[in-house]
Amino acid sequence: IDRFPRHVGDTPEDVLHRVFGFQTFRGLQEDAVSAVMNGEDVLVLMPTGGGKSLCYQVPALCRKGVGLVISPLIALMEDQVAGLRQLGVRAASLHSEMDYQDQQTVQEDLTCDQLDLLYISPERLLTSYTLNLLKRCRLSLIAIDEAHCVSAWGHDFRPEYRELANLKQLFPGVPRIALTATADPRTRSDILTALDMPQAHVLMGSFHRKNLFLQAQPKLSEIRQVLDALSRHMGQGAAIVYCGSRKKTETMARQLREKGYTAFAFHAGLPPAEKKNVLLRFRSGEPMVVAATIAFGMGIDRPDVRAVIHLDIPASPEGYYQQIGRAGRDGESSHTLLLYSGEGVARARYWLEESQAPEGEKRAMQGRLESMISLTETTGCRTQAILACFGETLHEPCGHCDNCLHPPSTFDATEAAQKVLSTIYRTGERFGALQLIAVLKGKMTEAVERHALHHLSVFGIGKDKTDTWWRMVIRQLIARGAIGMTGDHGGLGLRRDTARPILRGDIVVSLREDASLRHAMAASSTS
Ligand code: ADP
Ligand code: ZN
Repeated sequence: IDRFPRHVGDTPEDVLHRVFGFQTFRGLQEDAVSAVMNGEDVLVLMPTGGGKSLCYQVPALCRKGVGLVISPLIALMEDQVAGLRQLGVRAASLHSEMDYQDQQTVQEDLTCDQLDLLYISPERLLTSYTLNLLKRCRLSLIAIDEAHCVSAWGHDFRPEYRELANLKQLFPGVPRIALTATADPRTRSDILTALDMPQAHVLMGSFHRKNLFLQAQPKLSEIRQVLDALSRHMGQGAAIVYCGSRKKTETMARQLREKGYTAFAFHAGLPPAEKKNVLLRFRSGEPMVVAATIAFGMGIDRPDVRAVIHLDIPASPEGYYQQIGRAGRDGESSHTLLLYSGEGVARARYWLEESQAPEGEKRAMQGRLESMISLTETTGCRTQAILACFGETLHEPCGHCDNCLHPPSTFDATEAAQKVLSTIYRTGERFGALQLIAVLKGKMTEAVERHALHHLSVFGIGKDKTDTWWRMVIRQLIARGAIGMTGDHGGLGLRRDTARPILRGDIVVSLREDASLRHAMAASSTS
């Protein structure tokens, strides 16, 4: 049946009610929609789950012509298209993984004005064939989804996105709407420049997700901490455990299955059929855990993800916020737990230092990692701290992150810090935390004996404290940059500029008592 032009002439409210079945626009949607309706360029910054799609879907259905949606991921496009078709919207996608016949059909529909929305990958769009085809069509708008991919400074740079700067010349007068969940000021200005839309309306929604409960814990017993979090928070929903390596996803999924969970591993190296299977099961709504690398990401739109757990420190606050943003899309309270360790932090720094990336890019990555490290060790409200990374001020502490619930106390650790730093220095800056703690505690281990460490003056100077306590001190000295990894074998050394004033006694070192940890561990051992 030829339903064209079903929506043209309808108001955005009509479309919102009739097509999508929603009562009112949310947050900035209304402003975004009306700017596009007026033919203006817009940049929309909203957190994951904030409702970005409607900002272009509604005006595309109200304006004459087909709305072009540029999207980096095929799986994401397919999802959106399937969802729209169910609502009766004439949507289609065009990308390299379709067979020839399907591509032909889409192209015919396009030339006969039979489409409301066309999802397309940037590389496909920019072929001369497709451009010629599109030049003969009337475009209602051009939406650039995941627009942060255009920024070389961002955490998810895609070179194909660079070419999108030409859209303005190629399709003059067609309003463009760029959308992203990455909101740091640098990425924001990069998008405006790289897409050649300096005059665009910038609409920035609050990134505050009130239903997300932020928690970070030093890693003590990884699997126990994971199981504890899952049993408290997952309920009948889903959970995602982000792992640092492909191999880890497999071992974590296996451990969870052994504990009776339905659990799958997911990473980019899986055979396509297996990936598809995991995604299908995930979407089916059954209670399950996915142990995944960050490849499990865009397009994951399950509303009842109740917990997102990270086993290692993420590379940036932006990436982290996007990953935890996959929790609680249904608005119900959801839990996030970040497990981190001194070694993990030192290793992340070390690899960045060694990376071959161009100097400027490397500095940007280092800056993001350092912000992420500060986030883990902060004694203040975590929600406030992460929103501050996006330039957003939350005037009151959130009241429900771990630091708000159990404010960590701090203590004067100057002497302890000096003991650790001296031990590192005297043992030759080549041992990891485990051996350093053995020396501090005066324990005769095989390595202590072999390297004759028991003859050193530092042997046993830390007998009065537990291993866990020393681990906490070492971790925080790493986080502050007084200790770093000296090579890829995990040995720790002094970072002179920060370590020297501590050793000299020029500064007071105040560290956080891991109160939240003590609390969580006490609670889990009694329950
Ligand atoms: P984003 O792309 O920003 O991550 P989506 O566009 O996928 O977010 O929207 C997230 C969820 O919110 C979807 O399930 C969507 O149907 C719902 N949603 C969006 N706008 C509204 C609205 N105005 N009223 C009710 N639900 C909405
Ligand atoms: Zn808080």
